[in-house]
Amino acid sequence: MPQITKSVELFEKAKKFIPGGVNSPVRAFKSVGGTPIYMAKGSGAYMTDVDGNTYLDYVGSWGPFILGSMHPRITAALEYTLKNIGTSFGTPIEMEIEIAELLCKIVPSLEMVRMVNSGTEATMSAVRLARGYTGRDKIIKFEGCYHGHGDSFLIKAGSGALTLGAPDSPGVTKGTAMDTLNATYNDIESVKLLVNENKGQVAAIIIEPVAGNTGVIPAQPGFLAALRELCTAEGIVLIFDEVMCGFRVALGGAQSLYGVTPDLTTMGKIIGGGLPVGAFGGKREIMERVAPLGDVYQAGTLSGNPLALTAGLETLKILIDEDPYPELERKAKIIEAGFSDNLKKLGLNYVQNRVGSMSCLFFTGTPVVNYSTAITANVKKHGKYFHSLLDQGIYTAPSQFEAMFISAVHTDEDLEKTIKANYNALVVSEK
Ligand SMILES: *Cc1c(COP(=O)(O)O)cnc(C)c1O
Repeated sequence: MPQITKSVELFEKAKKFIPGGVNSPVRAFKSVGGTPIYMAKGSGAYMTDVDGNTYLDYVGSWGPFILGSMHPRITAALEYTLKNIGTSFGTPIEMEIEIAELLCKIVPSLEMVRMVNSGTEATMSAVRLARGYTGRDKIIKFEGCYHGHGDSFLIKAGSGALTLGAPDSPGVTKGTAMDTLNATYNDIESVKLLVNENKGQVAAIIIEPVAGNTGVIPAQPGFLAALRELCTAEGIVLIFDEVMCGFRVALGGAQSLYGVTPDLTTMGKIIGGGLPVGAFGGKREIMERVAPLGDVYQAGTLSGNPLALTAGLETLKILIDEDPYPELERKAKIIEAGFSDNLKKLGLNYVQNRVGSMSCLFFTGTPVVNYSTAITANVKKHGKYFHSLLDQGIYTAPSQFEAMFISAVHTDEDLEKTIKANYNALVVSEK
């Protein structure tokens, strides 16, 4: 078991100055217990903590590291920008056009795109734009989908998925909650019901086309196409939130994988290659409403800054040059099959969901297709499993309801080690 003395000390100190000791809640290990590990250095698929322990990383900074940490091409590009260009201007720069043009080429729905600084900014802005464009106030989201921490998204469905939302968090006004309707993932009838009850009032439907924030839940065949059809018929803006699955499940995101084109797309994570970047874009007719061309206001002092764009742009270029997706699929299949064997050997019927290199092992025998089936998972068992993996030097998300990410730099040897550790951890989880 690794010694984490220094992490414990740092966490105690951090709690004095930072709420909960962390700058983003899930890092605090609340749902698995124990002390968060303070990392000191990243390299490829590995991270080393402040006590000198090394971990094989399946969190990948929560998604961005599809090429691993400190990819030599990305580091070199960043060094070049730092030495020869600068960190910020607050004026237009050529690189902004380069990334916008490239994104419009890669992602099917994009005709125009605006760069922002996080996924949250992207989704907030996309929803404002949809409201401005349609002149309607309400939005439909899906129970269990995460779209960042904007007020409109922090609404859960209460006791039934079809009821009006109540705020998930103090500070979100009742008025905001009233404008957010919650539907059930993979259940088109639940969406139609809400649309009919709110005829002519729904500005947008926003969805993760591969849900990755309730563990991993793939959209079932036909579900996204049915949403597309409904939105077209009702004049509703369909927004795919591809902050996690974009450039992950395919270069062109879930929309290219499934062949369903939304009106607007939000992006983040991989698009910043480890630096803070987000983007939203889509149909020209809608995007032309964004200021200063149009009347829907959206701005950012550091938006499109050279360092962040350099990391994003270089990441996209590597993804295009190397096409790692078939390899990612092969590796993810090895993990899936290995875990599956282990479960069988131990007589466990737990469910695995996977799309490409994002996957999740749910501690439940119930097929997970939406939020209510996801929460049948036994989080206590997951907590034991997580800590056993950590003790074996494998770093996975400190929550049952997060994805496991495989990167291009995980080797077959790494995967083998992980499958062995998975067996041991499953044994521990059942004790
Ligand atoms: C991570 C995530 C966000 C929020 O992005 P931040 O950069 O953390 O603000 C939004 N939507 C989805 C689908 C995400 O996975």
